[in-house]
Amino acid sequence: MADTIWERQAPPPAAVDEALRDTRDACFWIEDVTAPPRFEALGADHSTDLAIVGGGFTGLWTAIRAAQRDPGRRVLLLEARRLGWAASGRNGGFCAASLTHGEENGRSRWPDEYDALARMGEENLDGIERTVRAHDMAVDWERTGELAVAVEDHQVPWLEEMTEGRFLDRDAVRAEVASPTYLAGRWLDDAALLHPARMVAELARVAIDLGVEIVEDTQVTGLDSGSSGPVTLQTPRGRVRADRVALGTNVFPALVRRYRPLTVPVYDYVIMTEPLTDAQLAEIGWRQRQGLADLANHFHYYRLSGDNRILFGGYDAIYRYGKQVSADYEHRPETHRALVSHLLTTFPQLEGIRVTHRWAGAIDTCTRFCAFYGLAHRGRVAHAAGFTGLGVGASRFAADVLLDLLAGEDTERTSLEMVRRTPLPFPPEPLAAAGIHATRWSLDRSDHRGGERNLWLRTLDRLGLGFDS
Ligand SMILES: Cc1cc2nc3c(=O)[nH]c(=O)nc-3n(C[C@H](O)[C@H](O)[C@H](O)COP(=O)(O)OP(=O)(O)OC[C@H]3O[C@@H](n4cnc5c(N)ncnc54)[C@H](O)[C@@H]3O)c2cc1C
Repeated sequence: MADTIWERQAPPPAAVDEALRDTRDACFWIEDVTAPPRFEALGADHSTDLAIVGGGFTGLWTAIRAAQRDPGRRVLLLEARRLGWAASGRNGGFCAASLTHGEENGRSRWPDEYDALARMGEENLDGIERTVRAHDMAVDWERTGELAVAVEDHQVPWLEEMTEGRFLDRDAVRAEVASPTYLAGRWLDDAALLHPARMVAELARVAIDLGVEIVEDTQVTGLDSGSSGPVTLQTPRGRVRADRVALGTNVFPALVRRYRPLTVPVYDYVIMTEPLTDAQLAEIGWRQRQGLADLANHFHYYRLSGDNRILFGGYDAIYRYGKQVSADYEHRPETHRALVSHLLTTFPQLEGIRVTHRWAGAIDTCTRFCAFYGLAHRGRVAHAAGFTGLGVGASRFAADVLLDLLAGEDTERTSLEMVRRTPLPFPPEPLAAAGIHATRWSLDRSDHRGGERNLWLRTLDRLGLGFDS
């Protein structure tokens, strides 16, 4: 098998050791919020119009959109641990317009409604920006767009075939960002960057200002309902009676059991460097500060932070047998080493830079790579999950869908096939692990063989199935 660029141009192992000498196992973003908001646990029975389970972006946006759409409504958000401790506080902070995990996935699955989906995605991104500006949210919002880059010859035609954004040839892309690995690029302007943990804190502030109540350290352990009337949420220290319930529990076990087989947790790994010096930054260029991602199956995504660190993540997307979410899975030294090595291959100008933080998080992967929706308990409980690594922006759209569904409203959103249909489930173990490992192996082989897809991948393509992060 041919080597990929990461093998052909790998830095010496000692350079990787040096970069990782004093690295902390901690999420930079979460540490960087000096006074995060803190909320008490639910201590007694409670009754509300709308209960929201999950204090990530989906839950917080649902709270805000509910209060904006119906200011008189009582809204209670319940979070098992702390707001944003999971994916929402520790992601790459790429806030994309895409609701479909990219154009290709959207067009191939929903060719007839893709134009509407692309427009709704743009409107959604504009809606996020409006909220950030209207509430003066300190979230390092930068509408930079995203630069997709080819780092192997076979990826160049893929960029040429894309219709969205602007194609950049080798010289043009390197004039933007000086990496010797770049062969071409496509600059997509429908994305912003933000500081995820600050976004969580600021969304909570806005929600509170709009009259939302929030409780942390309160796990919802079950839902009960009769044929009509309120739904009861069980928690360790009190019950909540709610007319409607929105579930934004992402990768964690769905409170409506039938949605559980639709997602699996996939671990995604990230490193963060120390701030670049002015001289280091000048050597790279990157004056437009775009988010960057390469086109391999095992792709990397990277960006500058507000204080000019480089966040570099992706590549390995690790599924562990048993579909569990566990902090133990966040430690994977070989993946963090690979990320450092690939960062130094991408930017040899940064020789000697230190990596200050490394962390990981669980992505809620589903077989169609973008969020799905469900309505249960006779229309009183709505569920959204399955963002597959692209939920920072799409979670706000999901919030509106959840509220439309709970209101029983027919809207342009609820009429979408993407909203009405759920993805195919993952099989039970051991089939899930066997299938995912075969797929990951095939994707890696494809990266090593000029992008060629073997019989297994072509069969999955035909079935509309796949594995991504
Ligand atoms: C490392 C990493 C990098 C990523 N990078 C990007 C990126 O750059 N751009 C992008 O768009 N997306 C990215 N993503 C994906 C994105 O972060 C998620 O899609 C998004 O944050 C999902 O938000 P959420 O609110 O649905 O889920 P979460 O943030 O996971 O929140 C769910 C919350 O529900 C709570 N909960 C679960 N069950 C219960 C219960 N029974 N009772 C009470 N509370 C409960 C959990 O404690 C948790 O806080 C990344 C993800 C990871 C892990």
